[in-house]
Amino acid sequence: MGEPRRVDGSGGDAVLEVACQEFVELVTEHLEGALPPAVERAVVAHLALCDPCVEYLAQVRATTAALAQLPPPTLPEPVRDQLLGLFGRLHPPSPGP
Ligand SMILES: [Zn+2]
Repeated sequence: MGEPRRVDGSGGDAVLEVACQEFVELVTEHLEGALPPAVERAVVAHLALCDPCVEYLAQVRATTAALAQLPPPTLPEPVRDQLLGLFGRLHPPSPGP
């Protein structure tokens, strides 16, 4: 117990397996439901075998939920004015003749 199941290539079934590191890389897309169905199934199968990744997923989910509740970041006014000025020079509102 405790060790995630190893894939040694001799497995006969066609179930895709993901390693913990791959799961970490896929977790955002998993939460967004953006994974291809085969990968999604592999992630779910991995979670069924791997408690640390279940915990990691719970942490990421909690963090994402906490971030979603924060107000959108606002820029300090001088910085915003600078950016707006720069943007106005790069993209003149009326490029007429
Ligand atoms: Zn894992």
